[in-house]
Amino acid sequence: MQVKTQLDELQNYLVDASNLQGGYADKLFIPQNSAEIAEIIKEANEKNIPVTISGARTGLVGGCVPFGGYLISLEKLNQIKEIGEGKSIAQAGVILADFQKETEAKGFFYPPDPTEWSCQLGGTVATNASGSRSFKYGSTRCYVERLEIVLPTGDILNLKRGEVFAGNDGFIELTTDSDQTVRAKLPTYLQPDVRKNTSGYFSSTKVDAIDLFIGSEGTLGVITEIEFKILPKPKGFLSGIIFFKNENDLLNFVNEAREKSFETRQTENQKSKVENQLDATLLEYFDEEALKFIKGKFPETPENMAGAVFFEQETTDETEDELFLQWNDLLEKHNAEIDVSWFTTTEEDRQKMRDFRHALPVSVNEFIVKHKQRKVSTDIAVPDKNFASMLRFYKKSLKDWGLDYVIFGHIGDNHLHVNILPKDGDEAHTAKQLYGRFIAQGIMLGGTISAEHGIGKVKSKYLYVMYGERYLNEMAELKKAFDPKGILGKNNIFDARYLG
Ligand SMILES: Cc1cc2nc3c(=O)[nH]c(=O)nc-3n(C[C@H](O)[C@H](O)[C@H](O)COP(=O)(O)OP(=O)(O)OC[C@H]3O[C@@H](n4cnc5c(N)ncnc54)[C@H](O)[C@@H]3O)c2cc1C
Repeated sequence: MQVKTQLDELQNYLVDASNLQGGYADKLFIPQNSAEIAEIIKEANEKNIPVTISGARTGLVGGCVPFGGYLISLEKLNQIKEIGEGKSIAQAGVILADFQKETEAKGFFYPPDPTEWSCQLGGTVATNASGSRSFKYGSTRCYVERLEIVLPTGDILNLKRGEVFAGNDGFIELTTDSDQTVRAKLPTYLQPDVRKNTSGYFSSTKVDAIDLFIGSEGTLGVITEIEFKILPKPKGFLSGIIFFKNENDLLNFVNEAREKSFETRQTENQKSKVENQLDATLLEYFDEEALKFIKGKFPETPENMAGAVFFEQETTDETEDELFLQWNDLLEKHNAEIDVSWFTTTEEDRQKMRDFRHALPVSVNEFIVKHKQRKVSTDIAVPDKNFASMLRFYKKSLKDWGLDYVIFGHIGDNHLHVNILPKDGDEAHTAKQLYGRFIAQGIMLGGTISAEHGIGKVKSKYLYVMYGERYLNEMAELKKAFDPKGILGKNNIFDARYLG
């Protein structure tokens, strides 16, 4: 195991994509296996030393940024152990892009695709990452079947989906590999009525123990190994980036594409797979400002458009033509600018479309770093019925407040990233105030403040606005059951003062 203490060796490990500043750590450990992780954690627990877990540091909320104590990087736990019929087993430090490539090479498909492919699998489980394709396939949670976890006491826990559930008394009881019992009281809040949510610990009427650790943002344990469910690789995809001159047309198109997709899936639930009906795997939005912002990197982007939608649909040789006609009919009905839009069925061009989508958050991050500012980006999702009103509120406020911005993201799930682009301290101050208003509006409309990036350190004060004192105390109670001394992922999700 490598141990590093020099500042120049630690420097790269002290930031993530949120650009949260001020991180520091006394020691960086780069272990080779879970036994070494257990050793470090045991020592830290005995000595009351805070421990932060570092994945690939692509997170957007400062969760892996340490403020003192030990930092553990998972980068050497990078073995894919098995890829077989319907399942795969990998260590937590495997890079998502490598995993997706290997899975596809073996004829399978791992759907979670959080736009940034350099993250580690453990990081994606710890944040329950989702991204564009979760519109059809769901978030990382839907694919996690088993976890190996090192608890903050140094005990190792192996959890299989479907084996341990909370009782009617609201408690859950787990047994570690060394026969220790952990009994935890679960939070009682209800999840908002949205399709994606990563605001705080998982809660539902029937909680499977494994779901508590998915999305726990490095606060309940160190995920060291994961068994995933994988799907058969789709035969092909039809993809398009469609431009619209009128925003109402764009929104009506999205509404109908969403409805038709849900109808197809409902039919699928009742019968077998329906291959020749419209069913989007993703529906992604780019507003007018986003198209202008990206034109520098993609000069072929048409001008004077109100916005664009990126869609994809699974196809086979038999269904490709029929599905193209169905999409074309829908686009014509909603006055899309078909002549300047982009369509493809080839893997190479599809990758270009994904690069176009990925270039947006990357360009925003470059802009923020260049202007030495912190990212001010929403991750709010709202119920279907309130989406149009939320979008109007975003745009009107941004214009009234005179700030530069781009809006893009997962419109299929009513989940957009509004990125405000402050160029100096004054604008950053105004941007933060406006961000607070967006949070309040999102909550008022029954939404979640974080649909996929998590809370980390950057958004914990807004989680207070969403859930209030009582539910943060309940989250702290849950954490204390696993981490009595509160050493792991300090100040992630909620302020450490809730731990007493
Ligand atoms: C350009 C860009 C676009 C993005 N787009 C999306 C998107 O569309 N959808 C989306 O969901 N996300 C998106 N993300 C963010 C996404 O959350 C991260 O990419 C990823 O999920 C985090 O993985 P990581 O390995 O980088 O983890 P880190 O950033 O290193 O850590 C994230 C959190 O997980 C904890 N953690 C990491 N590994 C472990 C482990 N093994 N055990 C326990 N805790 C652990 C850390 O302590 C921290 O709290 C984007 C990021 C970027 C930079």
